Amino acid sequence: MDTKVKEKGNVPELYAEEFQKLRDDEKMFRLLCETSNSAFIYYSYKEDRVKTLANWEHFFHFPVSDMRDLSRLYESVEEQYEIPLREGLFIEKQNRERQSFEIRLKDSRLCIEVEVNIVYNADGKPTDKIIRFKDVTKLNAQKDELTYMAYYDILTGLYNRNYFVRLLGEFLRNAEKDKCKVAVMFIDFDDFRRVNDGMGLIAGDDLVQLFGQYLSDLMSDHVVISHFSTDIYCIAIYDPCGARSVETIYQVIKKRLEKPFKLMDGQEVTMTVSVGVSEYPEAATGALELINCAEIVMFKAKSRGKDKIQYFEGAILEEFLQTVTIQTKLREVVFEQNFTMHFQPQYYTGGKKLRGVEALIRWKDNKGDMISPAVFIPIAEKNGTIVPIGNWVIEKSVQDYVEWRSKYHYPLILSINVSSVQCKQKDFIDSLMQILEKYDVSPGDIEIEITETILIEDFDYISKRLSELREIGVKISLDDFGTGFSSLSYLKGLPIDTLKIDKTFVDTLLTDVNTKIITESIVLMVKRLGYETIAEGVETEAQFEYLKGLGCDTIQGYYLGRPMPAEEIENLLADLTAKV
Ligand code: C2E
Ligand code: CA
Ligand code: CA
Repeated sequence: MDTKVKEKGNVPELYAEEFQKLRDDEKMFRLLCETSNSAFIYYSYKEDRVKTLANWEHFFHFPVSDMRDLSRLYESVEEQYEIPLREGLFIEKQNRERQSFEIRLKDSRLCIEVEVNIVYNADGKPTDKIIRFKDVTKLNAQKDELTYMAYYDILTGLYNRNYFVRLLGEFLRNAEKDKCKVAVMFIDFDDFRRVNDGMGLIAGDDLVQLFGQYLSDLMSDHVVISHFSTDIYCIAIYDPCGARSVETIYQVIKKRLEKPFKLMDGQEVTMTVSVGVSEYPEAATGALELINCAEIVMFKAKSRGKDKIQYFEGAILEEFLQTVTIQTKLREVVFEQNFTMHFQPQYYTGGKKLRGVEALIRWKDNKGDMISPAVFIPIAEKNGTIVPIGNWVIEKSVQDYVEWRSKYHYPLILSINVSSVQCKQKDFIDSLMQILEKYDVSPGDIEIEITETILIEDFDYISKRLSELREIGVKISLDDFGTGFSSLSYLKGLPIDTLKIDKTFVDTLLTDVNTKIITESIVLMVKRLGYETIAEGVETEAQFEYLKGLGCDTIQGYYLGRPMPAEEIENLLADLTAKV
């Protein structure tokens, strides 16, 4: 027999305790329901009773208290969700699996996840059914945003870089089958910093967005456009021809750029772009390689003066790869081990007397290959390594110079090439003087060779520095005259002592009448201005004699002597002094 019934006195107490427990449980479940963001429909099979629980009002504005009310529920969802919802809620349909699906409400546009759970008894008969409605509107929006961000660039609405690469890959696969071309245009704003730094980042973003919007109009099945990064856009064109040829698209863009862009704050900005173009299959066959090629040639468009289009050429790629290789090698270079100095003699035309030597650097890399200074000096100038290299050149050649002087006492001028980057260094004059003092060399024995370009870059500042050097006694020589600015009028008043007529004039001096006339007038003019003239790259006796006849003071070239190591200059000096 049941003990609870037998011990009569304890019965009410026990019930009270259990009753209280039940009430506590109910309170807990109610709280749980109410604090969850969901709503529930509870259905009891035994009682054939429907009840709604928790946040029902958040989702629906009508009560469900009996089975017939469910029809209102079906009516409240968007059409395409009605059938799944009916199936899910159809009470007779027994499903042992937990079911879940999404619906959208007509009026509120709420996105709801519906989850159906059925509880079965030991005989396998359903006893209860719980349908949970969960608001997933926000979650879905976040998911949508993530999907959007996976394909698009937020600022411009164009494709992002990753997706563009994927689409380009598809273009390439199709082009292989169709045997057609695919072009990539790599577009970069010129001087974007002018906008970003001068007008602010917001103005910069604004411009990027406006240009992006403009480009988006050019999109079609065959033309995909992406915003690659800050001020870079990429266009891929499938089977470029006619209205979608690279040239047409470029002209369309250029036409737009003729007009200013009106920013949100009312300011107007005009700008230009540099464009690099590569084509499948000539330039490359892979998407990333194709983009790389277009980017590399875009830099060429920039170096050609910006606001230009540059089509892919194998030579540009080679030059780029060489630059990268040299940059890497320059990082590994050990000056004393890899660099040496050669010296090329310069002779006065009258009596072929030795005037001096030009110091020329030589680089043998770790594999023993020679790398020409004409190749690596411009790269070293760009990445700044020219400064330590230039200092090394000065010290090394001065060391050799003092060695010769102490042995042979021959009055010799040492010409040293100085790059503009090096010359612009604040401590350039000081460090040059320090070396001269260290080795006890008179500044008058040293000549600095600079090129015309250095003067064009910053005429006033450089002129001032050169004047300072000349006051100390250092000679200044203007190298490669005729290859750059080439204006005789600006020569007047330059703080220089010597002018070197470039090899290109010497080369055609005897074969081209125009060159002859120009060279003659240069020599005459330079002499009148009181500068010394040196002709470089003189390879034949005929050139030598002709230049001598013109009145050119000094000759440098293979005809009289190639660049040579210090020991050979020593032999030369030994011979010369022995003859005296
Ligand atoms: P550059 O100053 O015009 O030097 C003359 C170049 O012409 C040298 O080439 C020389 O070897 C070459 N040359 C001389 N005579 C003849 C000739 O008769 N025929 C031919 N075909 N060539 C001749 P290199 O040594 O290869 O130097 C090339 C350029 O590299 C130099 O041109 C100079 O701009 C730069 N460079 C060389 N050494 C240094 C250096 O120590 N510092 C700096 N900043 N630049 C240097
Ligand atoms: Ca030179
Ligand atoms: Ca030269």
